[in-house]
Amino acid sequence: MSIAVVEVNRKSILHNIDFFKQKSPNRTLMAVVKANAYGHGMEEVAQLLDDKVDCFGVARISEAVALRQVGIRSPIVLLEGFFPHDDINDLLDFNLQPVIHSSWQIDDLNTIPFPNEITVWFKIDTGMHRLGFNFDEAIGEFNRLASCKAVRQPINIISHFSSADDFDSSQTKTQMARFDEFACLVDSNLIGCQQSIAASGGILAWPDSHHNMIRVGIALYGVSPFDEEVTDLQPAMTLKSELIAVRKHKKGQAVGYGQTWTSERDTILGVVAMGYGDGYPRDIPENTPVYINGRLVPIVGRVSMDMIVVDLGQHCQDKPGDEVIFWGKQLPVEQISKHTGISAYELLTRLTSRAKIRYKD
Ligand SMILES: *Cc1c(COP(=O)(O)O)cnc(C)c1O
Repeated sequence: MSIAVVEVNRKSILHNIDFFKQKSPNRTLMAVVKANAYGHGMEEVAQLLDDKVDCFGVARISEAVALRQVGIRSPIVLLEGFFPHDDINDLLDFNLQPVIHSSWQIDDLNTIPFPNEITVWFKIDTGMHRLGFNFDEAIGEFNRLASCKAVRQPINIISHFSSADDFDSSQTKTQMARFDEFACLVDSNLIGCQQSIAASGGILAWPDSHHNMIRVGIALYGVSPFDEEVTDLQPAMTLKSELIAVRKHKKGQAVGYGQTWTSERDTILGVVAMGYGDGYPRDIPENTPVYINGRLVPIVGRVSMDMIVVDLGQHCQDKPGDEVIFWGKQLPVEQISKHTGISAYELLTRLTSRAKIRYKD
């Protein structure tokens, strides 16, 4: 049995899905399960949701193939399309829907032999300036894509916000306007197509951005895309471990590598089986909290590969084997993010395979 555990509550994920179906009724819902479902276990999350969502979003063909291999039947969208050295036959063999963002991909699609057809997504750059066709080339490339024999009509269109978490910026409105403008330009080609620009931040903060498909990533797992928690969501993950030692510690003694923390009083320290080898960040500020036996206590000294020391306080009753929670319902990961300056996205996805995932209903 593993001691550092990523506990994932399936009910919370189902609750969050229901929340988004109610918030955005009559839209198609994509569950984004890339990066091991943000640390929650890609195959298991997809199996849980296969008959509850309209499609899945992943970032790599390898992720999509892994989903097909465990029997996932829903459509799978490759959010960054296929890559230069990918085998394009995988798109056909595994029935995958690539996002097309570059003209070299259109060249490649032209090599797919008749009578194969694939569903594609045309990515328009509305202001993120990372992937997607620029406005000045977009119509021409869209038409070139539309004339590929292997491309199923209609072509779906997709874009991505750069600043959906910035409620005061005009950027999101600008991007929405550009997206609408492009959709109008290609209107006659688009009957029955999917149009999508909103990920978690857009869905929650910009109700006019939902179009006919929403792409739910981090919020599916109950974690906010913003600094503040979203009260209607239930966090699905609890990262936890156990105390393996409880020791008396004298005033003036330092703790851990580099002796970076010295106790100002006699106290009792707890040693927890968790470290950066499990994915907990090494570089954290002093007083980053953990939750133990109903209260928060601070991490002291450096996080090491396999252990973390916490200051339990002079009068503690804690004992070896007691549960220690690093984040979860009792201590939202958003608060750890605020404390450490590490985004919740990164905290979730940097967990390693040593921290075993355990599912709970
Ligand atoms: C990762 C990703 C998403 C999901 O984003 P969240 O902020 O986690 O909801 C949506 N769309 C694209 C293109 C992505 O790469």
